[in-house]
Amino acid sequence: MSPPSSTTVCCPYCTAKLDVSKNTLPEYVSTRCPHCKKQFNVFTLYRWLYEQIPLAKIIADRDADTLFKHFRIEASNEEEKEAIINFFNMNDFKNIFKRIVLDCIIYGISFLEWKKDENNNIRVLYINPADTNVRISRQHFDIIFSLETYDNIEFSSENIIHFSLGINLTYPDLGSSIYGYWFHKWYR
Ligand SMILES: [Zn+2]
Repeated sequence: MSPPSSTTVCCPYCTAKLDVSKNTLPEYVSTRCPHCKKQFNVFTLYRWLYEQIPLAKIIADRDADTLFKHFRIEASNEEEKEAIINFFNMNDFKNIFKRIVLDCIIYGISFLEWKKDENNNIRVLYINPADTNVRISRQHFDIIFSLETYDNIEFSSENIIHFSLGINLTYPDLGSSIYGYWFHKWYR
């Protein structure tokens, strides 16, 4: 069955019903609600599901807890392990890692920005895709992401690390939200 050419979604901020083209939301481009004027994209809708529907929150939190319990650092020697632990400590990576796991479940994808600081150490910063315009371009089989927050802060593709979860045979880099299966049922 082919997907509908447009779908009705509720604005996650004012709950107004909007007709949204299938070419807009699935490509993660944001749209602006004509009623409350706020921007949102498909990730914002997924976040709304997570925050507003208790069962949706329980499903995501439990899956994240299960995955996080099995987290461990593997290295070929102690020196390598120490370097990884130092990197994690410098970047508060335990909390960032929890966010990556949760985002991969809620959104199917998670984004970080990396930069070198004045001492040449790599620093990573969490980016929430629900508050960001996500632009996608394709080069052969690779998918290139560039992001821009609604406040016009840009993240170039060279500085973006992304993680994805799920099975998307056509474009595996995009990931699949745990809520994808229900998405149309809830919003149509
Ligand atoms: Zn609205």
